[in-house]
Amino acid sequence: MIFKILGCSGGKYRNFGPTAFQLDDKVLIDVGTVMRKLDMRDIRALDSLLLTHMHFDHIADLPFLLQSIIEEKDGNFTVYSSKETKTAIFTHIFNFSIWPDLFQISDKLEWKVFNHLEAFNVSGYEIISIPVNHTVPTNGFIFDDGDSSLGFTADTYITDQFWEECNKKKNLKALIIDVSFPTGYEDRAKLTKHLTVELLLQELKKLEKDNLEIYVTHIKPSDRAKVIKNIKDIEKQGIREKITVLEEGMIIRV
Ligand SMILES: [Zn+2]
Ligand SMILES: [Zn+2]
Repeated sequence: MIFKILGCSGGKYRNFGPTAFQLDDKVLIDVGTVMRKLDMRDIRALDSLLLTHMHFDHIADLPFLLQSIIEEKDGNFTVYSSKETKTAIFTHIFNFSIWPDLFQISDKLEWKVFNHLEAFNVSGYEIISIPVNHTVPTNGFIFDDGDSSLGFTADTYITDQFWEECNKKKNLKALIIDVSFPTGYEDRAKLTKHLTVELLLQELKKLEKDNLEIYVTHIKPSDRAKVIKNIKDIEKQGIREKITVLEEGMIIRV
């Protein structure tokens, strides 16, 4: 499986866009940074989108993406989310006030609600959503192509169920984990329900496998240098190897 990083920042600056990943050309995971990263050919190739939660940095490009799908794509397109995320987006965005309800305008679009911990199939992948610990209902995902699995925590603070599900996946190879803040910012992390580098190390102790590729995402742009220094220090001290800080344009092959 090929994971393209379209956006991986916990904020929006000139060169840092919020969360959006692309799985094998066809599937998007969150849409914080999409329209300035994909051209029309890329958009026509998409067939689905999976959402982790309703926060604006994860859905910002949704109206523009769906608009261009209606205009450019011949086939259908499906958005997958939890019940809570769907309700929030239709109540506050697709309400004919902030934006038209594009799902009433075009029959190319479909919205499917998933139940957490029940596997569903998208573009040849078996996917499960797992509730995590954030300020609004939020789910991570595990993507399984039959040979390998990759887990994505989405935005989360200290959590258990996600790691328990990862431990059940014998073919788990890589994890993308929210580390918004550097070590020392634990009060802010608790308030906003994200992880720091120190909390990441504590969370990783819950994993039974230790040779996984670990990728860090959602760093606040203003704290990026501090987070990178924390991670270098961890490697120097030999506490943990193989922690990669994601950058826009990076590709993860699993
Ligand atoms: Zn969030
Ligand atoms: Zn976020």
